[in-house]
Amino acid sequence: MSKLLNRLSHTLKNTDTMPVLFLGHGNPMNAIEENEFVQGFRQIARVIPKPQAILCVSAHWETRGTYVTAMEHPKTIHDFAGFPQELYDVEYPAPGSPELATETQQVIGKTKVEPTDGWGLDHGAWSVLKHLYPNADVPVVQMSLDYQQSPQYHFELASQLSPLRNKGVLIMGSGNMVHNLRLVAWDKMSEPGFGYDWALEARDKIKKRIQEGDMHSLIHYGQQGRAFQLAVPTPEHYLPLLYALALKDKNETISFFNDQTIAGSLAMTSVKIQK
Ligand code: ZN
Repeated sequence: MSKLLNRLSHTLKNTDTMPVLFLGHGNPMNAIEENEFVQGFRQIARVIPKPQAILCVSAHWETRGTYVTAMEHPKTIHDFAGFPQELYDVEYPAPGSPELATETQQVIGKTKVEPTDGWGLDHGAWSVLKHLYPNADVPVVQMSLDYQQSPQYHFELASQLSPLRNKGVLIMGSGNMVHNLRLVAWDKMSEPGFGYDWALEARDKIKKRIQEGDMHSLIHYGQQGRAFQLAVPTPEHYLPLLYALALKDKNETISFFNDQTIAGSLAMTSVKIQK
């Protein structure tokens, strides 16, 4: 460990252990709307130390193999269709951090992490970061999700990111712990709190298992019954939660915020892990 930290110390400086976040991003319109969720994002940025850099694992970047964005100036990617022009006009000009990209590659021994300039910031990153750091003055690196790999693999990979927390890096997963777009009640999108029974059940069970530290059940979410199967029909919005949970130390506490279901089949529930 000391050898590793030594190598890292040449670029990002040592800090106290940074918190870890999982943010439920929900509807891309949250980027430009004023609502309780964006207030929750602003509030969380006020109560945690300002990071030197952010490493974001977004549901919206799936690749074969694992990549990190390594460019100086990541572009804002508008990776959605059918939304108002105002949303396509949003730019989030945060700088990249080639240094953090390199350090991320170095701390992960489990797999080869490749740098790329073929991505940028997708809406899983910028639609929430816009509220946390509206001045876009914190460098951001995204790391992709290897769609060929199991939840267990992602959990173990994520745990290797731990040394970055002592380098001022805010590690942030962005997804939704309950996310079934096929079953969204679009007409209820503006009524926070509306959740189908199975969505509420899955959200409550996921929270309970997080509090109990039952990582085995959370990793093997596919074997936890019907509510989980409906809540997590595909892995990409759930896996960023495992990235955050894998980084929790025994002596750290977990708190939830934005803890609402919306549109029947989405949970905005977000998680903060902090000493
Ligand atoms: Zn999404």
